Amino acid sequence: MATRGNPGPVSLVLIKTELARIWRLNGVTVLYPTAAEPHGCHGSSLQSVTALIMGSPDELRRVVGVNAGEDALALAVYGRGSRATTVAVLGDRAQRLLRVGNGSPACTPLSLSLLIARLAAHEIAHVLLGSCAHARQGLMRPAYDSRDGWLAADDACYKLEPGALEMVHRRLGQADRLAR
Ligand SMILES: [Zn+2]
Repeated sequence: MATRGNPGPVSLVLIKTELARIWRLNGVTVLYPTAAEPHGCHGSSLQSVTALIMGSPDELRRVVGVNAGEDALALAVYGRGSRATTVAVLGDRAQRLLRVGNGSPACTPLSLSLLIARLAAHEIAHVLLGSCAHARQGLMRPAYDSRDGWLAADDACYKLEPGALEMVHRRLGQADRLAR
């Protein structure tokens, strides 16, 4: 995970912590690369995804070479060839969401970091599911905005529905068997 450009007042530590928490709710361990373990870990069930926390759609175009949809807050760019799969979150759009009233919380490093982590967790689920489909509720709900409680502490907002959960674990299990 890295920041690029100007994503706004975010804390990478908070983002990493919340992203890992959401996936732990879904029974998946997120590992971050370190100097000692540059690939996150040795072992099994690995799927590596680069998460870029960035600023504007222009920056996205420059850095990743793709255009964001008009209303997209985040997106997944599937790796082809040597290009790694990347999920990118647009900090400027996330900040705007936090600023446009409707009961939105203030845009603080905490609220912005939590929102960005949740958007990144949602995009990673698209990658793990291999699908751009959405669910009515939970982590794969189609829209994250102030009405659906995305800043609520309610864990149910960040859980995968049973079918999707099973699919993620099945796919990670397949990766596990291939790695052995
Ligand atoms: Zn989505």
